[in-house]
Amino acid sequence: MPDPYLSVVIPVFNEEENLPELLDRLNGTLAPLNRPYEVVLVNDGSRDRSLALLQEASARDPHLVVVDFNRNYGQHAAVFAGFEACRGEIVVTLDADLQNPPEEIPKLVAKMEEGFDVVGSVRVHRQDPLLRRVASRIINRMTAVATGVQLSDYGCMLRAYRRPVVKVLAGSREISTFIPVLADLFAGRVTEVPVAHDERHHGASKYSLWKLIRLQFDLMTSFSVLPLRFTMGVGVVMSILSILLASILIAGRLIYGQSWAVSGVFTLFALVFFFLGVQLFAIGLLGEYVGRIYQQVRGRPRFVVRQTIRDGVAAPGGGGVETAR
Ligand code: UDP
Ligand code: MG
Repeated sequence: MPDPYLSVVIPVFNEEENLPELLDRLNGTLAPLNRPYEVVLVNDGSRDRSLALLQEASARDPHLVVVDFNRNYGQHAAVFAGFEACRGEIVVTLDADLQNPPEEIPKLVAKMEEGFDVVGSVRVHRQDPLLRRVASRIINRMTAVATGVQLSDYGCMLRAYRRPVVKVLAGSREISTFIPVLADLFAGRVTEVPVAHDERHHGASKYSLWKLIRLQFDLMTSFSVLPLRFTMGVGVVMSILSILLASILIAGRLIYGQSWAVSGVFTLFALVFFFLGVQLFAIGLLGEYVGRIYQQVRGRPRFVVRQTIRDGVAAPGGGGVETAR
């Protein structure tokens, strides 16, 4: 097949119930576009029949490229692998669970053709549980402040990127990276379009509350040193306050005598514990950055590709396309 114009990159993790409909709807949307396209599906170590389904489908449809991980590395690693394997001038990322309707792809492509480097999307009428939506809203605000990148919806993976941006992303050797924010750092013209959002009809969300918190912490520490500065600021304010407090305690003791000072012992305890907490927090935060440096220095690959299926033929590893170190 000649190099496609449009690549759709989709991470797949235990999505056997969604795959048939997904492939069907993708075909129905992309074929009428009349542009050469490919769909890169990255199997992120699924434990269900996802891989078998993908293998079957790719034997029938030459548009499908399947990248198969040897185990689960997470959604973002999967998208990176897709970026390395894809060849299109315009690259669209999409979730496999049909929450982002594939029918929205032409809208993104049209917007890209107006000359943008990155087209994001905002989920209107988002169909997720209330708690999840509230958490996302807080996360969006925090991320905007910490990273200095203004996106209205960081969580929405239905996004389009131009080839040069994808190349920079695939080449960046950061261990843990958050693709939408990273892309906007390297893109010239960025815009957003509203897209529809569906409920998940099959299978459960792969993100627990804990995983979301981890992701957010990752995001904050990989894109800014704001948390470090913030703790330093807290430290300075604390010290000034504690000097003031000490003066008051000394003055009180001089004026009211020893008995007053003894009854202040418990206040002191409270203070000491408070400072202990602040210190531990600061140390933990430092540890997070140091740990990040350690991971980076080891330079481990972010994922291992077992096989790549192209034109219905399986090849071991990245299948001739450059893969991670
Ligand atoms: N996913 C993945 N690896 C994982 C977790 C998720 O490839 O470890 C894929 C999943 O198959 C889906 C997408 O990432 O295509 C988004 O996952 P999910 O729908 O569970 O996230 P949510 O919509 O709840 O944010
Ligand atoms: Mg989903």
